[in-house]
Amino acid sequence: MIVLPKHIQELTPYKPGQSVAEIQQLYGIENVIKLASNENPLGSSPHAIAAINEWVENSYVYPDGGLALRMRLAEKFNRKIENIICHSGSDALIHLALRTFLDEGDELVSSHGTFIGFQVAAKLHGHPVTYVPQTDDYRFDIVALANAITPHTKILYLANVNNPTGTFFSAEEFVWLMERVPQNVLVIMDEAYSEYSRYMYPDFIDSLEYNYQNVLTLRTFSKVYGLAGVRVGYGVASEEIIAPMLRAKLPFDPNTLGQYAAIAALDDTDFIEKTVRLNAQGIELFTKEFRRIGLTSPISAGNFVMVDCGTPEKAQELYMGLLRRGFITRPLGGFSLPHCIRISTGTLEQNLGLVSAMEDAVGEIFKN
Ligand code: PLP
Repeated sequence: MIVLPKHIQELTPYKPGQSVAEIQQLYGIENVIKLASNENPLGSSPHAIAAINEWVENSYVYPDGGLALRMRLAEKFNRKIENIICHSGSDALIHLALRTFLDEGDELVSSHGTFIGFQVAAKLHGHPVTYVPQTDDYRFDIVALANAITPHTKILYLANVNNPTGTFFSAEEFVWLMERVPQNVLVIMDEAYSEYSRYMYPDFIDSLEYNYQNVLTLRTFSKVYGLAGVRVGYGVASEEIIAPMLRAKLPFDPNTLGQYAAIAALDDTDFIEKTVRLNAQGIELFTKEFRRIGLTSPISAGNFVMVDCGTPEKAQELYMGLLRRGFITRPLGGFSLPHCIRISTGTLEQNLGLVSAMEDAVGEIFKN
């Protein structure tokens, strides 16, 4: 028998949100809407689809490891190509950062209830993580994060916006924290939702404006650009961070179709504008209506809203109640928040349908 390392034995497989087909089959409901994975309800940029169709014929050729996209992003952010890395989603970049920088005895720090992808990657690498409790209003506790850093800390992971809470910290809080983080700690600033956030809050923090030498900023094409299926994300940082990551990266990722779809999507300002506008309306509607219904839910700067149901049992009941009404949402046990569920924004019609299903389900579950 092949003996597994202990930290691999303890891994549980990642459970993605349930698919529409799965729910249709399980419950015999025809009209099922998935608001579970923070995807773009408008689909993908048409420019990106055209690029995929154009490049599909080139599928027999190995990809260039993200070079064309790195060049384009360097131009966009006024950086050198040596400051940019591209990979198969920003999730892959989190894994790559951990693989590149963690050595024996190194530890990580983050917040309780942060992005599941980080929690999985940390477990996979088998290094101890200190998860600092969130504040009572579901935000990262910046002071506690600073205090949790020890001489063994190698990586501090910050998701801003945090998925699944939707909460965020300010530029002042970021600067305060960075003044207390030693230079030899890598800070991963995961900004997967930054385009949505900046539309809703024009002064939303952009970590790229600070040029900290120990910060790796991660972004993705899965959200506002609607390209989750072709798996492209990117990182921006000092050469000191990017060069070793490039050495440790699988040489060909990201794939060619994803890369050229991403390049085309970057310039599709029409699609981006439509997406962020629709999302802001969805967030406003959910925030207002969930409050009216009497739910506890933090203000979100992402494309999703979390609902605190009080107990894991109530969260499961609400998840099932919405499912029976044709809406797939995301239970958050895997994120260490089993008393909560997360709902992504959809089209206006889907959002209105969700609110009505929510009111119905809450009436059935919470009032009994
Ligand atoms: N980081 C955060 C905070 C996310 O919410 C997500 C996806 O949900 C990701 C990273 C991963 O995105 P990608 O599809 O680029 O791997």
